[in-house]
Amino acid sequence: MSNVYNWQLGREMAYPYEAAYPGRQFAFVFNINRCIGCQSCTMACKSTWTFSAGQEYMWWNNVETKPYGGYPRHWDVKLLDMLHATGGGPGAWARPSDASRAPYGEYKGKTIFEAAPEAPAEDGSQTALGFLPTDEEWNTPNLFEDNPAGAQATVRGQYFRGGGELPAHDAWFFYLARICNHCSYPACLAACPRKAIYKRPEDGIVLIDQKECRGYRKCMEACPYKKTHYRPTTRVSEKCIACYPRIEGKDTDAGGRPYTTRCMAACIGQIRLQGFVGLNPDGTWVEERNNPIYYLVHVAKLALPLYPQFGTEPNGYYIPPRWVPRRYLRQMFGPGVDAAVERYMAPDRETLAVLQLFGKDNHICHRYEIKEGPKVFDKEIRGRRVEIYNDTVIGYDRDGREIIRCTVEEPLHVRSGKHANSI
Ligand code: SF4
Ligand code: SF4
Ligand code: SF4
Repeated sequence: MSNVYNWQLGREMAYPYEAAYPGRQFAFVFNINRCIGCQSCTMACKSTWTFSAGQEYMWWNNVETKPYGGYPRHWDVKLLDMLHATGGGPGAWARPSDASRAPYGEYKGKTIFEAAPEAPAEDGSQTALGFLPTDEEWNTPNLFEDNPAGAQATVRGQYFRGGGELPAHDAWFFYLARICNHCSYPACLAACPRKAIYKRPEDGIVLIDQKECRGYRKCMEACPYKKTHYRPTTRVSEKCIACYPRIEGKDTDAGGRPYTTRCMAACIGQIRLQGFVGLNPDGTWVEERNNPIYYLVHVAKLALPLYPQFGTEPNGYYIPPRWVPRRYLRQMFGPGVDAAVERYMAPDRETLAVLQLFGKDNHICHRYEIKEGPKVFDKEIRGRRVEIYNDTVIGYDRDGREIIRCTVEEPLHVRSGKHANSI
């Protein structure tokens, strides 16, 4: 058991394993507002890594419709219920005292590690509060797709006519795209009795050593996000590998230059931005003002961790959907939600430029700079002044090579009448 600093919770917490921080940490931001639920990411991962016998129910990347969907079914609601029963989260959050070390305030509830001793574990050996999903819960990856919550149509066959006013709609749903979060304090790793799971020191990617795994599924029980999967044909567990050969520049056509993961590169909605962040000796982030991931999480505070109260310090961040009731979002992304949604609805000049970097290139963006352009829009929208400048944002890879150059205003292409159905 070690005492570690979890900056997402703004406090120290007990972690049933020794903490070790990589030099740089794999991290990503997903903009939920742009996800169209097309599942291109899901199929890109499946066709690359999990197309063989025994992997039929392995969806390392999945996209579920919230609030009713989930893969495995009800993964988050079940764990939230269990945490609640042991006096744990969502819990109260105290106001931030130190913006750099506790940007969302201090979480006063229990994490899955702290709640484990009170869990009704059948064998009494749980390292983290958790559960093993049933086969039935694993066999429906996309149940409840597109099912809305909230007000329903009162006349059969007629659509609900309300809910058109932002910020929150009366009838709502959203798509939540998920991969392994390559957590800083992985519950899967802590729970493995064989020590078959490890976090790579060079990039923080969490992997299962297939030779060491014996398929006990303790990782699956402990992972609060249910992102390890059991393969009955080999009787070992598998999980998202963050496409490490691509990250290492070993893709056949990469010429040695690192590529973003398959699910990031395939995203039609351009909702995904993948990168790396530098870590201090206590696991907090090194200030890198022009690293787009650092900017979105720590400067703009637009991107938030998924269920930070679980305590694993996930390295996946989400820009929350602006039309969803805030209470639901606060439970899912913590107390930073209100400010993040407000900022997203009236983004400042730099934020608008950084948002253009999403999905623009297969290479990994480590740094950006902005060249100022003219003002092209100035209007009051829902009581807020919105100004848009046609700035140019330039993205650079690890070696300082330019990989992205685009303007805030997207170019307009008009198809000729002769080829109306092609570009
Ligand atoms: S999301 Fe789950 S499987 Fe991935 S590192 Fe975190 S605890 Fe492990
Ligand atoms: S990072 Fe790679 S392995 Fe992980 S979900 Fe995405 S495509 Fe699959
Ligand atoms: S490819 Fe992108 S837009 Fe499509 S479902 Fe996946 S995350 Fe959403």
